[in-house]
Amino acid sequence: MNGENLSERDKKYLWHPLTQHQTAVARIGIVKAEGALFWDERGNSYIDGIASWYTAMYGHGNKHITKAISEQMSQLDFVMFSGFTHEPAVKLSEKLMAILPSNQAKIFFNDNGSTAVEAAIKMALQYHHNRNDIRDTLIAFEDGFHGDTFGAMSASGLSSYNGPFEDFLLKVKRIPVPQKENMEEVMAQLETILANEKCAAFVFEPLVQGAAGMKFHSAEGLDRLIEKCQEHDVLCIADEVMTGFGKTGKNFASDNLHNKPDILCLSKALTAGMFPLSITSCTQKVFDAFLSDEVAKGFFHAHTYSAHPLGCAAALAGLQLLNSSEILERRNYIASAHKTFVAKVENHPNVRNARSIGVILAIDLNLETERYGNLRDRLYNFFMARGVLLRPLGNAIYVLPPYVITNDQLQRIYEVIYELLDSL
Ligand SMILES: *Cc1c(COP(=O)(O)O)cnc(C)c1O
Repeated sequence: MNGENLSERDKKYLWHPLTQHQTAVARIGIVKAEGALFWDERGNSYIDGIASWYTAMYGHGNKHITKAISEQMSQLDFVMFSGFTHEPAVKLSEKLMAILPSNQAKIFFNDNGSTAVEAAIKMALQYHHNRNDIRDTLIAFEDGFHGDTFGAMSASGLSSYNGPFEDFLLKVKRIPVPQKENMEEVMAQLETILANEKCAAFVFEPLVQGAAGMKFHSAEGLDRLIEKCQEHDVLCIADEVMTGFGKTGKNFASDNLHNKPDILCLSKALTAGMFPLSITSCTQKVFDAFLSDEVAKGFFHAHTYSAHPLGCAAALAGLQLLNSSEILERRNYIASAHKTFVAKVENHPNVRNARSIGVILAIDLNLETERYGNLRDRLYNFFMARGVLLRPLGNAIYVLPPYVITNDQLQRIYEVIYELLDSL
């Protein structure tokens, strides 16, 4: 065993996510990460162009955050959150309330993005149930992604993930994302659904659909959909697991909207890539529907590691950085560098569409591809061979770097993308 490297030892017992092990190449053993870089066991370094699934926004191993976690660990490692509370959870709720959309009033803790959405959907279903108004249908966007547990998967519209489970999912009606051109048609579809189904909730990724390939839609359009749903007391669930904490330029993508969601889901950058934790926040109106002398009207949903003090400590330290002058300067720099790069590549013959919002940059290639076809692997390998981690989605290449990425590292990512465009 000692003579073998991580990649070899990995093959013996491990089953990886999103992997067809019969055809997949060996996993790369990673031994160290710092800032926007990580290193493999052979000593190669890579620029983390996607902040490890958009989590490590303040950089890998950020000292401010690791110190906060370590201090918390020596004070109080963990205690269950049913019957008990603790300073990191209370303080995090206070700090988040100061920046969440102003209608949010209560915070429920979970431990990952899927379970944040799962809790949101159960909250919405029980909200109506507690009011003796049985509603059995969810509304969601085509091509949305909300996680891999059953409720979250039901709301997700990416069929390549859901195939074997389709017969076991919750009832969902799907609408296209609103753009300027199709707005009236999407509104008409929504109205038909509202008239014919007993709709409990509308689940959506606000403004940017991440897993779909960083697809953008119209804020004005989404505002109209939310307004229409809320007229019918259909609870609007903003899944900000990807968009939260500054990705779109504002603290939350919902800050770009006039109509605020009833429920909001956060994870990923919440804990800066240091700890699994998530949050489902809601309005006072939602919370109040669970108040009753009947015990069973409460929300009987829990995860063992809910509100883990170490995760809360990481989140608090991250929040101190989010709008610090140093990080704000980087966020603005990345946003404007992205705009410059979009202008440079948008007319390239191999580019169908290039776009950016905040620190998110996406480029659709002018090529057809199967989602899991080998183009994706070719692109991925092209970037990795040049020391850059990017994970193309379908024919979309996206960049969502840690805020702390250096100017040179960011330029290197653009350079490698440009080299790819010229080589196709
Ligand atoms: C990643 C993601 C999820 C799922 O989060 P996990 O922590 O992977 O379960 C849900 N919604 C969105 C928008 C995501 O990007």
